Amino acid sequence: NRRVILKEYVEGYPREEHMELLRGAEVPLRLTGAEPAGSVLVRNLYLSCDPYMRPKMSRPLRESYTAAFVPGDTITGYGVARVVDSSDPRLAPGDLVWGITGWEDYSVVTPPATRLLSKISHHGAGEGAGVPLSYYTGILGMPGLTAYVGFHEICAPKKGETVFVSAASGAVGQLVGQFARLAGCHVVGSAGSREKVELLKTRFGFHDAFNYKEEPDLGAALKRCFPDGIDIYFENVGGAMLDAVLLNMRVHGRIAVCGLISQYNLADGEKDAVRNLAAVISKRLRLQGFIEPDHKHLYPQYEAWVLPYIRDGTLAYVEDVAEGLESAPKALIGLFHGRNVGKQLVRVADD
Ligand code: NDP
Repeated sequence: NRRVILKEYVEGYPREEHMELLRGAEVPLRLTGAEPAGSVLVRNLYLSCDPYMRPKMSRPLRESYTAAFVPGDTITGYGVARVVDSSDPRLAPGDLVWGITGWEDYSVVTPPATRLLSKISHHGAGEGAGVPLSYYTGILGMPGLTAYVGFHEICAPKKGETVFVSAASGAVGQLVGQFARLAGCHVVGSAGSREKVELLKTRFGFHDAFNYKEEPDLGAALKRCFPDGIDIYFENVGGAMLDAVLLNMRVHGRIAVCGLISQYNLADGEKDAVRNLAAVISKRLRLQGFIEPDHKHLYPQYEAWVLPYIRDGTLAYVEDVAEGLESAPKALIGLFHGRNVGKQLVRVADD
């Protein structure tokens, strides 16, 4: 059973040396009976690389909504797995699940963490045919619910409004753009390469897009795309982009603060200050942060809403699949350099 551990706390950008692949004990085929009642042994199939995993790799300095990783421990995160053995009455061998698992070939998930494993019913033959299992790391998993809650609940969009999305080709952003289009909004995205900008316009139906790395003046780029201003900003990056957006918002605009990835690798003293916060007053803006775990109860509603759009091809979902557990550290690191095109995940084993 191979596993990836955090080797040491990360300062600055994460590097492969911060993690290590250990080849360890034999492959477990059954629970031993020594585990707490309700434990589940799973074979991991797909692992998700998510930006929130980086702040968990820092030496914990203050309270956070997620606990820090501990050096020496197996990295944990979202994944898709098959149940091998179970003493949880909800789950039986052969069941497919998604939720929090380990960066390893096999994981023993013990209560209360087993509550975070959800059974997958929409896959394989019959009703769920045609839905790739890997989608449960993305559009049918945590990033999907994040995009849905952030856009529909936090931004409360109205038909005809203007929407701007940063990190727009990523796991969350590509969905927000498509949800905005479905809601009848005019949507523009920013991304960090020409290839990604093309993807936004041709695959995801953004009305316009720009490469923020090629724009010397972000404010001018926003003015060009939004001559009458922005009603809704879906914030994924922070930093200079947030400052430029604040000056281009319309009166009574809404900003959903989903993530600030441009700040995750900076030490406290290096983080960007927000210079144009006064625009929140003059333009009467609502700026609201949110975290997906607070909204888990909306998942069944979201799944029922999104599945028909996946099946009939209304929604596209682009994934970037790294092969093998050994490639997981590099794939995670790539998120902070924009190397992923679409949702970054790792295939550990075939289903
Ligand atoms: P993505 O798939 O979008 O991958 C991250 C992307 O961020 C990169 O591909 C890169 O794209 C962009 N990026 C990286 N560094 C920078 C930088 N310095 N400045 C600008 N852009 C950068 O990730 P997700 O869709 O999974 O996550 C997007 C955001 O949503 C993150 O901030 C994440 O933390 C947040 N999030 C929040 C959740 C919540 O519950 N609040 C849940 C899930 C995600 P590019 O090439 O365009 O630069």
